[in-house]
Amino acid sequence: MINSGVVPVFGTIVRIHFFDSASRDDTAMGRSDSKLGIIHLNRDMPADLQEAVLLHEIGHVVADALGMKWGEADNAALMTGIYAVLSDSERTIKMTVITPEMAERMR
Ligand SMILES: [Zn+2]
Repeated sequence: MINSGVVPVFGTIVRIHFFDSASRDDTAMGRSDSKLGIIHLNRDMPADLQEAVLLHEIGHVVADALGMKWGEADNAALMTGIYAVLSDSERTIKMTVITPEMAERMR
């Protein structure tokens, strides 16, 4: 389970903000705002789904950083595939979410 953290994307720190399902009218699992450097994640999801949604939102942020014309379907397909590869390679490849404390030490 991811509790808090930041994700460095091409040298920019993207913060992860968690929200409760009850705070929204929709069924959003995640959202990203590249301009503000923030990813919103629903905290009421199983850990593996939360990781998959975080990776999906990172895909949006990376695509924005690269100036890609990247649609939702493209992002969903590619990032779901990448998540599957990472999950299958769990022992050798691990998605790391950097905590604010770790980010501070990296400065
Ligand atoms: Zn999306």
